[in-house]
Amino acid sequence: MLDQDTIDTLCQTSVAPAQNLIDGASCPASDGAVMEVISPVDGSVLTTMPRSTAADAERAIMAARTAFDDGRWCSMAPAARKKIMYRWAELIEQYALELAVLGVRNNGTEIGMALKAEPLGAAQTIRYYAEALDKVYGEIAPTAEGTLGMIHKTPVGVVGAIIPWNFPLMIGAWKLGPALAAGCTVVVKPPETASLTLIRIAELALEAGLPAGVLNVVTGEGAVVGAAISESMHVDVLTFTGSGTTGRRLMEASARSNMKRVYLELGGKSPNVVFADAPDLAQAAKVSAAGIFRNSGQVCIAGSRLLVERSVQAEFTAALLEAMNAMTVGNPLDLGTAAGAINSEHQLNQNLAFLEEARAQGRTVHGGARILQDTGGFYMAPAIVEDVSPKDRLFREEVFGPVLAITPFDTEEEAISLANGTEFGLASAVWTSNLSRAHRMIAKLQAGVVHVNTYGGADGTVPLGGVKQSGNGHDKSLHAMEKFFDLKTAWIAL
Ligand code: NAD
Repeated sequence: MLDQDTIDTLCQTSVAPAQNLIDGASCPASDGAVMEVISPVDGSVLTTMPRSTAADAERAIMAARTAFDDGRWCSMAPAARKKIMYRWAELIEQYALELAVLGVRNNGTEIGMALKAEPLGAAQTIRYYAEALDKVYGEIAPTAEGTLGMIHKTPVGVVGAIIPWNFPLMIGAWKLGPALAAGCTVVVKPPETASLTLIRIAELALEAGLPAGVLNVVTGEGAVVGAAISESMHVDVLTFTGSGTTGRRLMEASARSNMKRVYLELGGKSPNVVFADAPDLAQAAKVSAAGIFRNSGQVCIAGSRLLVERSVQAEFTAALLEAMNAMTVGNPLDLGTAAGAINSEHQLNQNLAFLEEARAQGRTVHGGARILQDTGGFYMAPAIVEDVSPKDRLFREEVFGPVLAITPFDTEEEAISLANGTEFGLASAVWTSNLSRAHRMIAKLQAGVVHVNTYGGADGTVPLGGVKQSGNGHDKSLHAMEKFFDLKTAWIAL
């Protein structure tokens, strides 16, 4: 499906100014304001998109409110809703390559990964929830004779979905799939630096037969559009992926407004724990390098802290360096590229500042320079930092870039204490041949996901969500649908 000539041809096409999608119609911001969409590939202006106002967000919310209240979606027969969602998934697949290339020009992810994770991943997710939507049953409670207790599952209402820039379609579908399958209506706030593909798939949803107003997209600044959604009295649920700072704001906005439910998928500083008895250290090093450097580390579950048993530290670090140095960093639209661009110059500078600080602290830093500046794009070489102390910012704070911090340990207890020693708890991994140790680690690691002898790659059948300050609620799997249902009890005297 992927060939370089087709990608190159698609790259030549100019991108029309993007529009909001409100109540089934494409429209600019009410005051006509736009923001430039800068491509991280070469720093050029790709197109513009609406710099929407709070009033635009409110109009989209009211469209979603009306579409929910009049039942045009939630009262439709499940088989009909399922058919529309299937058709939507098909259309996304049909346009997958165009969507992938547009997405890469917008956010800088390497094309191979973008195609698989973004349009194809999104289509798979939407199909998964389409299949699930007519398999949700209510319950009859085990009550005493003479009474009947029924438990209905009803869609919550209007969902505000606020999406980050690293995988807007994949993460978007993790939210839209279960929300729409449950019968809710949605207002999407795409990320400032990766809005284009979400608008496009919302248009495809209309084409698939989704009624107007059920799925609305409003672009612009988080502090304006996202804030309006989070403060609204007409939004019933917020589902968010992004930074902890924004997550906190959403909880505050909920408390100030209508106490809407707030589901957060936040950052991580995920520990990847390598014991000397790992089944294959060379393989572990390769997978661990991919686990932090793919998409230039702009992955929420990236294994950004490598905790390695001291007896194999030198050997393992050498293998990691070899894997890192073998990666081609560059134009994300070239099929040979293993890691593409950093999403924005702002993010790039933030990444470099972490490394500057590590150097100033006397840590050994391999790689990590800004590269390919002559392209106009935002690129950096991946970096490995040795002997990072638990006191270092690099140990505790998320970079969200291609930076791996290595810290050695001597005992299993020390490994657990180091692994759990941050405010985060998103993902983790343990590499060992000892089955008992693997189970002890699964039990003791404070994380929403524990990989064993691998890193990443979990499919849609299992949930993804964090503990501690990595969030609450889960995306993916059937569990994700629970966020978008209310339980209603009917108590009947017979
Ligand atoms: P961000 O919080 O800055 O932005 C995320 C979204 O929130 C964007 O759409 C933005 O416009 C919006 N937003 C910003 N300010 C807002 C406000 N005041 N009110 C409402 N909405 C607002 O995060 P980001 O920089 O886009 O994403 C990177 C972060 O996301 C990282 O911390 C990363 O770990 C996290 N992330 C987590 C997961 C996960 O599944 N847990 C997945 C991907 C990314």
